Amino acid sequence: MDINYFTKELDNLKSKNNFRVLRNLEHEGRFVIENGQRMLNLSSNDYLGLASDSQLREEFMGSFSSGVLGSSSSRLLTGNHKAYGELEDLLANTYKRDSALVFNSGYHANIGILPSLTGKNDVIIADKLVHASIIDGLILSGAQIARYRHNDYFHLENLLKKYSSTCRNIFIVTESIFSMDGDLADLHKLVELKKQYKAFLYVDEAHAVGVRGEYGLGLAEEYNLIQDIDFITGTFGKAYASQGAYVICDSLFRDYLINKMRPLIFTTALPSIIVQWTKYIFEESLNMNDKRKTLLELSCNLSNALKNNGFKTNTGSQIVPLIVHDNIKSIKFSELLCKKGYYVLPVRSPTVPEGTARLRFSLTATINARDIENILNVLPNNDTV
Ligand code: PMP
Repeated sequence: MDINYFTKELDNLKSKNNFRVLRNLEHEGRFVIENGQRMLNLSSNDYLGLASDSQLREEFMGSFSSGVLGSSSSRLLTGNHKAYGELEDLLANTYKRDSALVFNSGYHANIGILPSLTGKNDVIIADKLVHASIIDGLILSGAQIARYRHNDYFHLENLLKKYSSTCRNIFIVTESIFSMDGDLADLHKLVELKKQYKAFLYVDEAHAVGVRGEYGLGLAEEYNLIQDIDFITGTFGKAYASQGAYVICDSLFRDYLINKMRPLIFTTALPSIIVQWTKYIFEESLNMNDKRKTLLELSCNLSNALKNNGFKTNTGSQIVPLIVHDNIKSIKFSELLCKKGYYVLPVRSPTVPEGTARLRFSLTATINARDIENILNVLPNNDTV
């Protein structure tokens, strides 16, 4: 036994300013409170502000008639209550696709779908910056793995050429809005390539569902590509203010996943109350285009203003990174903003590549133009931190 190993590993993280702790937060609408200090929450994925909407919650609870708080077994045993079927039908009908399948979380979806669909005769070609849950899925799969430089479709095409003659199936994998950079994949180009090379396309829309497209069905809807993407995944824990995730796919694959996907088969189902709440909120969110427009407008204003102030950032979505490169600098920046009443957290490696530490502004529709102005006023100068 070598207990020292663990202490040394933690010391190592501390020496690199990369040691993490859990913070005790209370939530009060769009604010969080830590040790008595009230801060505007700029680190939440509650993009439409629905998690903090007490009216919606009361309406749901008023209409809620029956449902248990635990499901007691997996979906393949007795856990597959009626609410699952209702939610999956609603999803498939809204997307106008064959079928949908719901999972306990986006993490479950990403470590389950690709490993169940692939083996050693297949290749998964993924964008270099895909989320950790997808990377874990790649590790778990027995497939050959290739990565293309972030959003570099020339590089992707070279890999497609390389693998197309030797592999049974090719899966191209991307996020639509990248979780840590907030930039967008070019879904039109990806659909063109997947058709040309007869590959499957898997798009994780965790940060785009609820937020993009007229009905909130993500970038696939915004670009009119819902019918062209083989696997569209979305999560319920972000804009939809609930818990769980889903895939939109052909019914052949739904059957296949029910039979083969270990993180679906070997886990306890979601409680019925959660699935009913998800259905309720998903239906409500279809008509929230005004919130979506406001959110995008505010996000563009913030990223443009950051750029004008000499900061390195990206535009295009509600996730606005402020890249400071250095771990210590990202921590100091965050501490300064928290002191001024803005809860913005630093993001460091391994969440993002080493040397690209950043603050991640994650905006929600509860924020207004005045807030953006105030944030800009309290932002320290890049050189003084
Ligand atoms: N995919 C992406 C792109 C994510 O950012 C996340 C979580 N941040 C997940 C999947 C995992 O989703 P969940 O939180 O529902 O496990």
